[in-house]
Amino acid sequence: MAAMNRRVVLKHRPDAHPSASDFALETIPMPEPGDGQVVVETLFLSLDPYMGSAIKGRHMSGAVREGDLMPGDTIGHIVKSRHADLGEGDLVSSRTGWQSHALANGSEPKGAGMAVALAPVARKIEAVPGLSPSLYLGVLGMPGLTAYAGTVDMLEPKPGQTLAVSAASGAVGATVGQIARNMGARVVGIAGSDEKCRFTVDELGFAACVNRRKDSWITDLAAACPDGIDRYFDTVGGPTLEAAMANLAMHARVVLCGMMDQYNSSTILNGPALGPVLGKRATISGVVVYDHFDKMPRWRRLGADWIKAGKLVAKEDIVPGLDAAPAAFARLMAGENFGKTVVAMAT
Ligand code: NAP
Repeated sequence: MAAMNRRVVLKHRPDAHPSASDFALETIPMPEPGDGQVVVETLFLSLDPYMGSAIKGRHMSGAVREGDLMPGDTIGHIVKSRHADLGEGDLVSSRTGWQSHALANGSEPKGAGMAVALAPVARKIEAVPGLSPSLYLGVLGMPGLTAYAGTVDMLEPKPGQTLAVSAASGAVGATVGQIARNMGARVVGIAGSDEKCRFTVDELGFAACVNRRKDSWITDLAAACPDGIDRYFDTVGGPTLEAAMANLAMHARVVLCGMMDQYNSSTILNGPALGPVLGKRATISGVVVYDHFDKMPRWRRLGADWIKAGKLVAKEDIVPGLDAAPAAFARLMAGENFGKTVVAMAT
């Protein structure tokens, strides 16, 4: 029998929390490349929280409708090429979604920012010996670049300052904390279990970590930041952001990156009280990774050097095979992942 393309589509839009039954697996014929195109066989697929907003129709990258292929960043190798600069076997990153095989363009589109970041283009990756290609979806990919831009360019932590970060063991949070630690800051994490907290302190070198599921977590956060929070990187919103804001130091900076607390909600929730921003003369900015794609090569070089030197640890939550992706995505949206969620397609 001819080889077929296996893919996952959205079956129905969840009202609240997504579950595996919201998705369907389909088998369709293999794509054939046109002029300038390639066929990529997916090796690794990234599962990311923004997909939770996209399936609710409210993410800036576009809405996923019922019957649509689920979007997502991938690492794969080329199995057919009709592009002069790309050959069979080349390792590429692309945004080809939840499927085993996909068409991608060989050339960059015109434009900049989001148009380039979201384009279905196969981009060659030079594999670094000793590093799994899956890292190009996490610490050396979109989440890592978000952490780099938000921390180095926007928060600019100084030695001795306290930087706090939520979802601290996750793809973005763990990278933020380690970049800040490498810059000399004292890092305090907020995470959802004692195991995650232990990991950030013992293996990532954070000064402290607060378990957000403990009754005492708000007073624990204040105790972990006796001089206040100089820099706060927010990935969650809601009560976590509110608690961090209540502990800001004078002239604090806050970067808003994500809203895990409301991605599963059918309504948009109210924001935190803004009094502390005024009282502490603080600054709040938003980071959107699509604005920073030109920095990807610089971050990948620095990040890979840090990994090899033992100054950056990348924890992955590996999911075995495409069939397991829907349940793993539901787990991610419930906050039950531990590290960067990546589907290893061949297992
Ligand atoms: P992640 O941290 O690996 O996973 C999400 C984590 O959020 C969960 O593991 C959970 O960790 C935490 N969480 C806190 N409150 C939650 C709640 N109410 N429900 C579910 N989970 C909750 O994910 P990531 O890929 O690194 O992304 C982190 C955030 O950054 C997301 O909000 C994402 O959308 C955002 N992001 C933004 C950009 C941008 O351009 N602005 C780019 C990439 C990612 P704990 O249990 O440990 O708290």
